[in-house]
Amino acid sequence: MYQVMSPKAEEFISDEEIRACLDYAQQNKNNEALIGEILEKAKQMKGLTHKEAIVLLDCELEDKNREIFSLAEQIKQEFYGNRIVMFAPLYLSNYCINGCEYCPYHAKNKHISRKKLTQEEVRREVIALQDMGHKRLALEAGEDPVNNPLEYILECIHTIYSIKHKNGAIRRVNVNIAATTVEDYRKLKEAGIGTYILFQETYDKKQYEKLHPTGPKSNYAYHTEAMDRAMDGGIDDVGLGVLFGLNNYRYDFTGILMHAEHLEAYKGVGPHTISVPRVRRADDIDPDVFDNGISDETFQKIVACIRIAVPYTGMIVSTRESEETRKKVLHLGISQISGGSRTSVGGYYEEEPETDNSAQFDVSDRRTLEEVVHWLMELGYVPSFCTACYRAGRTGDRFMELLKSRQIVNCCHPNALMTLKEFLEDYASPQTKAAGEALIAQELEKIPNEAVRRKAEEYIRNIHNGERDFRF
Ligand code: SF4
Ligand code: SF4
Repeated sequence: MYQVMSPKAEEFISDEEIRACLDYAQQNKNNEALIGEILEKAKQMKGLTHKEAIVLLDCELEDKNREIFSLAEQIKQEFYGNRIVMFAPLYLSNYCINGCEYCPYHAKNKHISRKKLTQEEVRREVIALQDMGHKRLALEAGEDPVNNPLEYILECIHTIYSIKHKNGAIRRVNVNIAATTVEDYRKLKEAGIGTYILFQETYDKKQYEKLHPTGPKSNYAYHTEAMDRAMDGGIDDVGLGVLFGLNNYRYDFTGILMHAEHLEAYKGVGPHTISVPRVRRADDIDPDVFDNGISDETFQKIVACIRIAVPYTGMIVSTRESEETRKKVLHLGISQISGGSRTSVGGYYEEEPETDNSAQFDVSDRRTLEEVVHWLMELGYVPSFCTACYRAGRTGDRFMELLKSRQIVNCCHPNALMTLKEFLEDYASPQTKAAGEALIAQELEKIPNEAVRRKAEEYIRNIHNGERDFRF
């Protein structure tokens, strides 16, 4: 039975409830009155229930679909403006004891060489990342208690935060590692991580068990309840995600929103981010089974409907997606993207060949970080390297309160401009620098609070004179 407040995965992600919602949405996909009512509620920008959101996702009425896309854009503007926060994944180890059928790191794949970074190699990777201009990382590692125990991850985090190379610094380390215990989550929190990210892959238990035949990850309940344990361990920013293409996308769309509702109801704070990856081609993965099963049009609709359903949750799209696809979804609600990513272990220090079969997945967008920054500015976005909230202790419910009251805007915009300025001073080519300086001058005018604007202008002058790391 469906119970949002239950600690049990099979009750807060109830298969029966999801299937009932999917039927309801199909029955109402042309119900103009109901869709109109849901859109009216959505315009208040306080979100929708999973049952309402799936009706919008299934909607087949053209004029209502136009309204859905336009509302998603408005919400993106209202809460996230034209800013896009930049990050990069850092792969620490591809040793893994799990049997995930869609991932080349699965334990039985003998084609790839297994590698785990030493602390010296972590240093080299981080310096390479700092030299690109990154300030925010997402650590990735397979699950292997012998090769990558938690102590190893903690040591890597410590190393990463300690590296100060030229003007570079990694100021926020997010972590994407296997589901673990409350005690381990507490240790990650103490090590100073930002967001704990764990993709559900699919919320459909039967399909989940089929795709994860072996290893600890095969335990659906342990995996699905991980975010509750992370929050019990003191981590209040958690990132959800499903891998679209593994299962019926409508099922997983409904499931991820139910998960968000559960966290909000049961733990008092919803997810910090939702990632929307799609299955990619990779080594030892049957391309006929996992063929990136959803179209770009469906993908856009998913992004728009998530934006409307959970306005307070950031949305992430990675370099799995091409430049063209990323462009199609940015304005619909994306708040963070990766840039210049390498998805193999050690891929930043040593340039990975395009056909490297030790990468976790094919990167579609292979541009450098600077190229992505330049491209974003040309499209009218402000690339941001901001990490201020986590460092100022604005996490979890404190962060959500600021966001809900729209106060966060007074921090995000000046912080975006100041961190972009740092990037321009330290890492950009003359062309990107010129484009960025013009953008900063123009965007400073948009800061409504005069005192904040003056302070931001002063900080930006200070950055030009060699100082770093200002924040609101
Ligand atoms: Fe291991 Fe993660 Fe790949 Fe599964 S998805 S095989 S847990 S690295
Ligand atoms: Fe994110 Fe906070 Fe920076 Fe805004 S001020 S971009 S919410 S870290």
